Amino acid sequence: MAYVINDSCVSCGTCEGQCPVGAISAGDSQYVIDADTCISCGSCAGVCPTGAISEE
Ligand code: SF4
Ligand code: SF4
Repeated sequence: MAYVINDSCVSCGTCEGQCPVGAISAGDSQYVIDADTCISCGSCAGVCPTGAISEE
């Protein structure tokens, strides 16, 4: 189970630097998590100001 970013993302970029495996990147309209890379540590969910990140 990977973490996912929903459409509440405002592309602030805060989560990208929190990911220990580099699974988060800027997508076309918002940030996205690569499900194959994510190890479900949860670090990103704790720093998102809009609560856009949750476990799938
Ligand atoms: S849950 Fe952890 S590994 Fe997955 S995207 Fe968030 S910070 Fe990266
Ligand atoms: S921290 Fe939240 S709002 Fe900011 S880029 Fe990541 S998912 Fe989007």
